[in-house]
Amino acid sequence: MIGLLLLALASPAQAVVIATPRGQTTIPVTTERGQAAVAASRLVAPLELTVALDGPRVTVGLGGAVFVFQLGAPFVRAGAVVCALVGEPYLTRDTLFLPLSWLADCVPRALGARYRWDPVPPRLEELPVAGPVAAARPAGGGAPPAAGTVHAAAPNPLTGLRLRHVVVIDPGHGGVDPGNPGRYFPDGLVEKDITLAIARLLRAELVRRGIGALLTRATDTLIDLADRGAFCKAQCDLFISIHVNSMPAGRRADRASGAETYFLSDAKTEDQERVANMENEVIRFETGPPTSATGPLGYILRDLQLNEYLRESAQLAALVQDSVTKVHPGGDHGVQQAAFMVLTTARRPAILVETGFATNRTDGAFLASSLGQHKLASAIAEGIVAYLLEFERKLAVVAPAGGR
Ligand SMILES: [Zn+2]
Repeated sequence: MIGLLLLALASPAQAVVIATPRGQTTIPVTTERGQAAVAASRLVAPLELTVALDGPRVTVGLGGAVFVFQLGAPFVRAGAVVCALVGEPYLTRDTLFLPLSWLADCVPRALGARYRWDPVPPRLEELPVAGPVAAARPAGGGAPPAAGTVHAAAPNPLTGLRLRHVVVIDPGHGGVDPGNPGRYFPDGLVEKDITLAIARLLRAELVRRGIGALLTRATDTLIDLADRGAFCKAQCDLFISIHVNSMPAGRRADRASGAETYFLSDAKTEDQERVANMENEVIRFETGPPTSATGPLGYILRDLQLNEYLRESAQLAALVQDSVTKVHPGGDHGVQQAAFMVLTTARRPAILVETGFATNRTDGAFLASSLGQHKLASAIAEGIVAYLLEFERKLAVVAPAGGR
């Protein structure tokens, strides 16, 4: 029952704006089949789209790439790259409809240098082609770029990454919200201090590896949970929230130790629920009025991209957890799933790392030490690099012709 109510509250987009150097067009969005879709014919003029229908096969040309859809199938192929769709292309009233998620996700991924997607309000922007390149564009001559490949610079010598990536790092809690009190932290230190210290070190570790990094907070201040994920939008590859775990007081409270990494879903076990409740509790410190988007109801499908990033978030969580476990004295608490509000608002793969237990003597000392914080930051950065390498492999990133 609650689920139906929540779905009704998550009002779908009614229109999408297509902005190009040639002008701006508003295209209606339909949800008649459940998922947001747009009529392909409405995109032809503004995006200079070509569409060919051959039985169940739909071939769409856009910006030099060729996208091949199948009617009724929730994916699209661009060269060697397959992109999952939310919803399927379909024909109705002699009109071909394409899932909005194609524009929102697959187009910017396949043609990231030319198209940018902004989710709120829904808007696809075609970026202007630089003057000399446009002037030199052959009229009908010259081979088009291979669809689905992304040409990039030489690999970074430290990481092997070829593309410029940006990571948003979220140090948990802050300001009037101290987080957990940290039983085994030295005098006065609390969770918010540890998360900020690790996050700053993580930023430095990423920058050292040639990866862009932003903090949701760089000082001791409180940012609403619902605003944290929003830092990770168009120009962000992934979102990582840093926290410190704790067990409720009790005879066995100090037994639990080690790191665990969460990605978003409904909490499955009592323990996962305990952690989710603990980290969501900050809402009581927040001053803004709760809305359907930021209240506890906001757990439900935040937007059409959420589903698609679950698998990637799970993969990111596994790689970061693997890496952190190698340096952590408290052992491996595994990859977990829970309903964290801070993750629901991110528009990219998002994870939350519980870097250890403040209620465990060894973990507490490790987390409060400079050496421990450095080890954790470096290990998280290595996990992120492993994920981004995999991400680039899936994108079929190749070296520029002649420049290997
Ligand atoms: Zn926390």
